[in-house]
Amino acid sequence: MSLKIMQTGNPFGCHRVLNPLGVLPQPAEKIDNDLERVWDNEILIDVQFLNIDSASFTQMKATVGCDEEKIKDKILEIVDQRGKMHNPVTGSGGMLIGTVEYVGDKLTDKCPLKKGDKIVSLVSLSLTPLRIDEIIKVKNKTDQVQIRGKAVLFENSLYAKLPDNLPETLSLAVLDVCGAPAQTAKLVKQGDTTVIIGAGGKSGILCAWEARRRAGVTGRVIGIEFSDTGIDALESLNLCDEVIKLDATDALTCFDTISQITKGMLAHVVINCVNIPNTELASIMMCQDGGKVYFFSMATSFTKAALGAEGIGKDVEMIIGNGYTKGHAEIALNIMHESQTIRKMYEKLYC
Ligand code: NAP
Repeated sequence: MSLKIMQTGNPFGCHRVLNPLGVLPQPAEKIDNDLERVWDNEILIDVQFLNIDSASFTQMKATVGCDEEKIKDKILEIVDQRGKMHNPVTGSGGMLIGTVEYVGDKLTDKCPLKKGDKIVSLVSLSLTPLRIDEIIKVKNKTDQVQIRGKAVLFENSLYAKLPDNLPETLSLAVLDVCGAPAQTAKLVKQGDTTVIIGAGGKSGILCAWEARRRAGVTGRVIGIEFSDTGIDALESLNLCDEVIKLDATDALTCFDTISQITKGMLAHVVINCVNIPNTELASIMMCQDGGKVYFFSMATSFTKAALGAEGIGKDVEMIIGNGYTKGHAEIALNIMHESQTIRKMYEKLYC
């Protein structure tokens, strides 16, 4: 079928917003996912895989259970209602892998992509117009969904060409969380004590690697995990000085434990990589006054964090986990070349 080409699209994709009019695609309730017509400043992608954001996938499983057909129905329902994979409860999306099918005339001068290139989107599915023709497989353990479908990227959207020296689904998994290790690289200084919550998960392990490197031999990396599987995975990598089994929703126990092992000093930096709600206070309480709390988790509530910190009189800098920071894709992918143990573990999990 031939594409209908439309003129003068908005660089941020506002021409696709259906409801409410006048907002950007991310906060929009519904966007236009008619992908038989594209604007001359869009990139059309033939999509093969979605990586659903972990907080979103966990929330869907908590609602409909782990049955593959029910998860498929939930994903189709969301995309049908919203024109994008924007979970209305968590507000989060994910990202995609696909093949470039069309690059609008207005982009050809500044866009290095051409038809046939394999790319990963580095903007959220919560703002990406998406049409799903078929869900082929839901990979329950990795939050990855194999589909037949189409999506478009806007003029200002970020993307990366898929590296040809890594398996595709491994790149997808790593790039989904690439903002976390890159921010860790900026936040952790030599000699710092860093606490990572959810340290045995996908982003947590990459953060632990980066924190270890930045803190050096005089620093300390403490990994918090809840499940025995997560603890085993983390211990086998030997990245953390201590691996501790704690429930991050139990703020008081987290505080007591970290206070005890740091002799009351607490952490210079706390990095929150969990996929469940209600962990704001544990993160804040484990951090020392003047320290930094980095909320990468999409299940973070601004209100709970701000009022929680105020309520206990804690003067910490709190950072929202912007998925983008300069060099984020390169930093994360580089870990796959630097650490053969992490790469082997991730290949086992995500390939
Ligand atoms: P993940 O691989 O599922 O890891 C989450 C980790 O949290 C797991 O190790 C999990 O342990 C642990 N956890 C769950 N409940 C816990 C509890 N009560 N106490 C302590 N640890 C607990 O997730 P991910 O892909 O790394 O993503 C982590 C977070 O980042 C998610 O919230 C995701 O939405 C968010 N995210 C943010 C961005 C951004 O741009 N800011 C981008 C992508 C993802 P078990 O599995 O062992 O229970």
